[in-house]
Amino acid sequence: MQLPSLIPDGFCLDCRACCVFEGAVSPWRPKITAAEKQSLDPAMIAADGYISAAPAGEVYPCVCLNTCDHACQIYLQRPFECRLYPFVLVRRENKLMLAAHLACPYIQANRGTKSFAEYAEKLRQALRQEAAREILNANPQLAGDYPADQNALEDLFLLSGGNA
Ligand code: SF4
Ligand code: SF4
Repeated sequence: MQLPSLIPDGFCLDCRACCVFEGAVSPWRPKITAAEKQSLDPAMIAADGYISAAPAGEVYPCVCLNTCDHACQIYLQRPFECRLYPFVLVRRENKLMLAAHLACPYIQANRGTKSFAEYAEKLRQALRQEAAREILNANPQLAGDYPADQNALEDLFLLSGGNA
């Protein structure tokens, strides 16, 4: 499904921090939904249900990344979590929430602005649509087990559980 995009393409092309991880089992790799598992090449999916990352020097790029031009080779088929990033799903007790990954330079530069708040509201509306709800309900594993570093994430809004 399509999700609204916050970040201008040019910003990401200059940054290029996405899709490259610190380890082969990094918790920041995107997780694969049940439907994506059916359509993606199994070689792209690691045993733990995340996208595979392979070593390249000291880092681990996603196996779908063309490291020469930093393009996703499955862009039109890229996982839901890739479309969502730099936002991620987190579970807080029995509540599903959307959080922003504060490592993203665009988030660092824009959080707290009016346009960021407007975008967050647009995203909240998109994630309340039937197609998104089906994905979230069918794939509880998408709520990531991220490091408990208080500077890593900023919780934005509730998606389910409580008064979502
Ligand atoms: S970290 Fe943020 S700004 Fe950098 S490429 Fe990823 S989404 Fe774009
Ligand atoms: S599937 Fe594409 S967008 Fe997702 S992490 Fe890999 S290269 Fe990046």
